Amino acid sequence: MSKHSSCPCDSGKPYEQCCEPYHRSKNAPTCEDLMRSRYSAFVFGLVDYLYETTHPNHRNNNLKEEIASTCKGLAWTKLEVLSVWQGGEKDKVGKVSFRASFVQDGKKGLHVEHSRFRRFIKAWMYVDGKVEG
Ligand SMILES: [Zn+2]
Repeated sequence: MSKHSSCPCDSGKPYEQCCEPYHRSKNAPTCEDLMRSRYSAFVFGLVDYLYETTHPNHRNNNLKEEIASTCKGLAWTKLEVLSVWQGGEKDKVGKVSFRASFVQDGKKGLHVEHSRFRRFIKAWMYVDGKVEG
């Protein structure tokens, strides 16, 4: 699979027209865009991006190590956004529910999460997520 043909977030758009600008420093305009770009960052192992898009109040001491070990241990294969609440260009908070498929140690798994986002200065930031199951 070429990383540059289609974006790993399954938007159907090329990576360059989807998550790449956010990975290069552009602020995601909506929390769904941020959520998708964080998923793609997990696929590519962009630990710093994932750290920097976590709300400063929720960056615990081990966050970078936790992100790095998730990136190494899991191969994400598919993303489906299930629902979006607020999180638009004029909102201050937002929620995104999503289902992400992965392979770990040769076994398929499913990660269902209800994520919360909050605007910090101009940028959307990930606050936390409730994982189902
Ligand atoms: Zn994308």
